[in-house]
Amino acid sequence: TRSGAALSIAGLTVGYGGGPVLHDVSIEARPGEVVALLGANGAGKTTLLGALTGRVRATAGTIRLDGTDLRGMRTEDRARNGLALVPDGQSVVGELTVEENLRLGALWRHRGAARERAIRGIYEMFEPLERRKDADGHQLSGGERQMLALGRALIAEPRLLALDEPSLGLAPLVVAQIMRTLRETARERGLTVLLAEQNVTGALSIADRGVVLNLGKVVVDADAATLAEDSALRHAYLGF
Ligand code: ATP
Repeated sequence: TRSGAALSIAGLTVGYGGGPVLHDVSIEARPGEVVALLGANGAGKTTLLGALTGRVRATAGTIRLDGTDLRGMRTEDRARNGLALVPDGQSVVGELTVEENLRLGALWRHRGAARERAIRGIYEMFEPLERRKDADGHQLSGGERQMLALGRALIAEPRLLALDEPSLGLAPLVVAQIMRTLRETARERGLTVLLAEQNVTGALSIADRGVVLNLGKVVVDADAATLAEDSALRHAYLGF
């Protein structure tokens, strides 16, 4: 174990009843570090994020966040211990306004003036959200919805932010803005980010490290720059 690891997944085995889908997965990430979680369709990225939140049950291993093992905790207790997940598809409530969605995300973390300050903080991070603060969730563009999903997760001040394909279906400029904000937020707050992405180039452009899953196993754990430059590795596991 590297000292100061915020996230330490060790020996994690996860299945859905028909044999394991993840085998003995170990991943560590320091505070402020962005780790890209890569791999082909079906490699097990979504399953790993599900095991983090408790949606999918792990049969062996540990998931430590700042030393506390989350495995076995209820989902809401994992959140209180610093975990936030931005699922793919949408966690935004369509019938509520942007600001109401943010208020909901802040509910158990901040109250009164602190809550209003936290909401302003999210508007500073994602300026398009402030212009749309009175719009309903279902009126937002895909990019605005993804920013709001991120804002809702970040407003609770997690220690670990896990994202499932945040760039899916978004225009390149919007992807770039979201990636940049993730990078800056991780540095500024010492937030650990686990970024599951099919968009390998986009993810590696902001990641410190890349972890490649293949058939439910970690096959590569390398510096992001090394991984981006190693064409043999890319060909073998990432298909380009
Ligand atoms: P994608 O990018 O397509 O989501 P992924 O890397 O996230 O791929 P997973 O969705 O985690 O991969 O799937 C890993 C394996 O687990 C696949 O073989 C898949 O068929 C299987 N799997 C996923 N969800 C379930 C489920 N609810 N029940 C049974 N098997 C599942």
